[in-house]
Order: sequence, then structure tokens, then C-alpha cells
Amino acid sequence: MQGFYEENALVSVQTTQPLDRLLDYRAPEGGCHQGAFVEVPLGPRKVIGVVWGPGQGNFDYSKIRQVIRVLDVAPMREEMRAFLERCGAYTLTPMNAMLRLATRAPGLGDPPSMQKVYSLGEGEPPRMTDARRRVLDACGEMGGLSLTLKELAEAAGVTTSVVKGLVKSGAVREEQTPRDTGFPILDPEHGGKELTADQQTAAEALQQGQASHAYNTVLLKGVTGSGKTEVYLEAVAEALRQGRQALVLLPEIALTAEFLTRIEARFGAKPAEWHSGVTMTERRRVWRMVAQGHAQVVVGARSALFLPFQRLGLVVVDEEHDTSYKQDDGVLYNARDMAVLRASILGAQVVLASATPSLESWNNAEAGKYKRVILSSRYGPAVLPEMRTIDMRREDLPSNRWISPSLQRAVATRIERKEQSLLFLNRRGYAPVTLCRACGQQIGCDDCDARMVEHRFLKRLVCHQCGESKPMPDKCPSCEAEDRLAPVGPGVERLAEEAQELFPEARIAVLSSDLYGTARELKGQIEAIAAGAADIIIGTQLVAKGHNFPLLTLVGVIDSDLGLQGSDLRAAERTFQLMRQVAGRAGRAEKPGTALLQTFQPEHPVIRAILAGDEEAFWKAELDERRAATMPPFGRLAGIILSGEDPAKVFDLGNHLARNDAPLRRVGATIYGPAPAPIARVRGRHRVRMLVKAPKDVMLQRALAEWAGQVQLKGDLRLSIDIDPQSFF
Ligand code: ADP
Ligand code: ZN
Repeated sequence: MQGFYEENALVSVQTTQPLDRLLDYRAPEGGCHQGAFVEVPLGPRKVIGVVWGPGQGNFDYSKIRQVIRVLDVAPMREEMRAFLERCGAYTLTPMNAMLRLATRAPGLGDPPSMQKVYSLGEGEPPRMTDARRRVLDACGEMGGLSLTLKELAEAAGVTTSVVKGLVKSGAVREEQTPRDTGFPILDPEHGGKELTADQQTAAEALQQGQASHAYNTVLLKGVTGSGKTEVYLEAVAEALRQGRQALVLLPEIALTAEFLTRIEARFGAKPAEWHSGVTMTERRRVWRMVAQGHAQVVVGARSALFLPFQRLGLVVVDEEHDTSYKQDDGVLYNARDMAVLRASILGAQVVLASATPSLESWNNAEAGKYKRVILSSRYGPAVLPEMRTIDMRREDLPSNRWISPSLQRAVATRIERKEQSLLFLNRRGYAPVTLCRACGQQIGCDDCDARMVEHRFLKRLVCHQCGESKPMPDKCPSCEAEDRLAPVGPGVERLAEEAQELFPEARIAVLSSDLYGTARELKGQIEAIAAGAADIIIGTQLVAKGHNFPLLTLVGVIDSDLGLQGSDLRAAERTFQLMRQVAGRAGRAEKPGTALLQTFQPEHPVIRAILAGDEEAFWKAELDERRAATMPPFGRLAGIILSGEDPAKVFDLGNHLARNDAPLRRVGATIYGPAPAPIARVRGRHRVRMLVKAPKDVMLQRALAEWAGQVQLKGDLRLSIDIDPQSFF
């Protein structure tokens, strides 16, 4: 049991307000527990906080105000607090910001709210109408379950006044129930598939890891379609049997719909969901129910890691290599790494699932820190696709065309056989550049150092940096020449146009995140395509992830060289992962698949490794290079971004920091820069970056804090530190 403070005892409270210290209060009437969520007065306002410990008592007691009340939510557990503290220390994030992450649910301070629900009452109404009949039928079909007024009216196709009329006569019963209800119980024995011998061994290995309730991490590696999901659902089942909660993190939230259906098939009911598409009321419910243990499984985005689980036993990180696990705004944390941290504090298991693990995880498994469980073949008759390059230097292709004759022939064959082809291009929109043929100007964003991308579907130019958009102009904004603006280079929309010209009869579907207003629309489209509604699918990296298209037998990668040019340390790794994932889309069902990679550099080592499918060789070569350069995972990096409106001031700050590097030198770290960031201006702010490189086993965070603490940020200057940066923008 956590400590208890009697009424009026001094307590210190951590709030979510941007203050760099704890605040002292007197415990409220009736006292409070350590960890309690409380409402406290702060100046004229009331704010939410957590009782952190005994008060410091260095103020005049008579002036200290009292905690207003304890909120009606489960207190923060010691384990959660330790997690927030260590996560904050690792990412150099102040505790108030960490607490904000842990309280991202609306209305935590509200009293438990009630709602009216409706079910079948007694007797028939004095006068029966069609509409009334439909309401009673709808109630009857719910088999004793209750609906809200809106739900019932919708189900019956009537206005709410019809329902209210029935309530008056008693034919429909109206009751008050708590709004935040628990989630349906999941049954671990409900509907498991019969596993193959390989899968069974893998599932048992995961289950064994949970037996002792001790921390362990397993890297579950297996080609796409090998049944990784089936296997880790068995680990979820094991957690349920032990009465522990499970969290499944997914990178692409649009995909959760398909996944939720799978959970329902396996465990008999849907789990709780946590991501940006979830309504505020539902968020509140999830947060509270997770804290009370009435949500056994949560499927969510990275921020679900900060939910107040009561007895978390398992965290699955699906597609663990995915870059979207690294938060890139607000608190800079990598959900994969923080999942391992949280589990190590709790004594829980982490399952990192991927067909193409990150170099870090692969290295940790090599070093014996993670257990490795491998599924080596695809489930059923599906075999891995054959992969070949198309040497673009030898293809006869007019300019402004991207589908080579070889690829065109391959697609034509698939259409004849009534099979699907996927053309993959990781570029949203119509064309990445719009050029004026009169003056040579390329249309850029007013606020960023970036070209604007034409989105013909929206009839707008969009900046992919800041999201600013403007209508497609008909004259050049620079020289005012009319009708001289020309698209340069391909985006998926333009590729679709080309494909339609080449195959006028074909049904073409474009899958790009910006073309769908909602996750539901996207889900509908994905289902339709899987059922055969398209002959040619044109997609961005959205399609690389987790879908099953049984009719798909050909993948054509339009520009395999796109990812090879990056100045990024991880460019090769990412290209490798992406290509393997995309190729993994082909031939998932009975029909064998083929992947064709259009490239101008077929001899590039990354392209060759992809073709050879020799992952071990690829990783070993990458690791050797990183070891030689003492880059992660053999050394540590921190990215520093300085920004401000006046570029000279930003550079001055950078130079000042670079000169005063003693705290960093003491731990053997080196500073590179300041240099203009690859995107040197975003939303009107100039950006300068520095890179700090340190040996592996030093206290880098402490040194960074001391180093950055030497300067006072004046005016609009900002400094942000990104530990283990994933990208260098
Ligand atoms: P992965 O997560 O490795 O991509 P999945 O678990 O999604 O693989 O499996 C791919 C497909 O094969 C899914 O449709 C899944 O339901 C099916 N599958 C895998 N293993 C089995 C099994 N043992 N029995 C029946 N279907 C299976
Ligand atoms: Zn912009």
C-alpha cells in the first residue's frame, strides 16, 4: 500500500503546468494517498496534479493552500511514476510534460457521469404505429442490452420523440447507468486457429516467457504472412489466462479496424482502442477502465504506452522497425524503446514483431539481450515472391513516363489472368515539383524551405512540411506568365493517370493517406480492393503495412532509388525494410508473386541485398559499417535543433554552444555543427542543427542537460534535444 497523508499534512504535488518544481499543499479533508490524482488551486485557477510525496515545508505553513479534492480515478501506481521519471530522464523531458502524456484523457476531474439508456419495457403502447413497432423490435433485437436514445432512434430509423413517447407509456424502459462502462470480457479459449508446428513452438516460447512474471523481451521475426500475428495473439491469450492486461501497439492507425476484427474472432469481443481517431468520451472511458482493470486488451498508437494499466503483463510492438514509433513532436520518445523500459520496471513481457527488424533490435538479439523467435516460412502454400530488377538505363521510356515497357508487360499479363498488380511509389500527390517554363521558378512554400506538391485531386498545392496549401495558380506567381506551369516528376496521382492511359480498361485504385477523409473510408477501400475491386493498385508506403490482398501477384516498385539518396544514417536500412515489406504484399495467398524493382543502380549493395533476400548478410554489413563509425547501436547520438525567426541569432546560439562544449567533452562526446538543417526553414522559423556523438556507455543525458543549461533562451529562440534521432530533419 502506498503512503497515506492525514488531513492537513504537507504534501508536494506534481502538476501538468509548465513549472520546474513540485508545489506544496495541505492534504484535503479526509486525507489522501501517495499517487492520488487531485485538484489543487494555482493562482486563480484549479489544476490537476498527482500527490508526489511529503511536502518540502520550506514555506510559511499558514500560507499553504489546501488540496481541493481527490479525483475519482485510481491513484497513480509507483510503477507508473517510476516509468515516467525514467522516461523523462532518458528523453530530457520535464516531469510536467511527462504527466501530460499520462493524463491525456478529457474530463478526468469530472464526477462519474451517468447516461440514460433504453431497453424493452412492459406492455404495448395504447396506439401502435409503424415507427413505434420498429422501436420495440429494435429493443427486442438487443436481447436485454441497452442503447442510448440516439443509438436506439438510429437503429429503428425514427426520431427521438417516437422513443420518448414509448417511454411515457412504459413500453420502453429508461434507466440511468454510469457512462464509462467496462469492456466486454475476452475469452482466451474462444477461437484459436490450429497452429503449424513452427508457429506452435514460437507461441510456446512466448508463453514460457510469461510464466515467471519476470521482464523479458522477445524479437518475433518472420516473413510477412508467416503468422506472427497469430503467434503473438497466443501470447495475449496467455496474459489473459493469468489475469494480466495486454497492450498491442500498431504503427498505422488506419489499420486497426482489420486488426480489431481479428481480435474479436480470436477472443470473442472487441478490445479497447486508443489513438487519435477515438472520440473524447471513448478516450475517457478507456483511460478509466484501463486503470480499473476493466479493459483487458488495448490496441493503440504509441501514446497508449502511457495509459494507467493496473496489471500489465504484455506489450506487443507490431512492425517494431516502423519509424512512426518515434514521436516527432512534443516529447521525443521511441515507443519501442519505452515499451521495453516500462516492461522492465513492471516485470512484463515485450514482443517485438517484424519481418524486417530494426538494426538495434537485431543487434540486441545477437547480443543475447532479447530472445529470438523465428518463423521461417509463410503460412500455407504461399511462397515468397520472386524478385528482380528492371534496369532503367536499358528501358526505352519517354520523359514524363515512369512505367517501363518491361513493367507494363508484366502488368498486362496479370490483368489477363485476372490478378492484381501493385505499383508502389512513396510520393503523395500529383507531382513533387511545379515548374514555370517561362522563368524557371519552382513554386515553393512561403514559410518553409520546401517545394509545394501539386495535389490534383484537391486542386491545390500542398507543403508536405507544414501542411500549408493554396489553390493551384493559373499563372506563375513569380513572372505571371500564363499557362506555363508544368508538373515535374511523379506522385501517385500522376502515376495513376499514366497507368490509366496504358490500360484504359483497367480498374485503378489509389491508396494514399491524404485521399481518405477518415480511417473508415480507407478501411472500406482496402476491403473492397482485397475482394477484387481493382486491377491495379497504386500506393504509397501505406500499402507496405499489414494488408492481405489475396489476388495480388505483382508488385512494381517505380523508383527503388528514392530511398538510397538520403543523407540519413538509416537510409539503407529503411529502403531495405520498405522494399521487403512491399514485396511481401505479393503472392500472399495460393498464387506465387513477383516483385519488380525499377532502378538506375542495380549494382547498389542495398538493391543487391534486397534481391538476394539475404537479410543476415545485409544486417551484418550494416552493423560492421556502424561499428567502424561508432554509430548507433555502437555509439550514441543526440540531435539538437535550434530555431528562431532571425537566422543570425540562431547561428550565434549554435556557435556559442559549440564553443562551450566542456560538459560534453568530459564524457568523450563530440559536437558537429551548427549547420543549416536539411530543411532550413519550417513555418517561417530558421532551423540549425547540431549533432552530438558519444561513446555508448556514458551518462549522455546528464552531460547534455548541463551543456544546454549553460544558455538562457531569449525571445523566440528554441532548443530541442532528440535522443537517438531517427531522422535528420
Ligand atoms: P504476419 O503477421 O506474419 O504477417 P499473419 O498472422 O497475419 O502473418 O498471417 C497471415 C495470414 O495467414 C492471415 O490471414 C492468417 O489468418 C493466416 N494464418 C496464419 N497462420 C494460420 C494458421 N495456423 N491457421 C490458419 N490461418 C493462418
Ligand atoms: Zn510549408
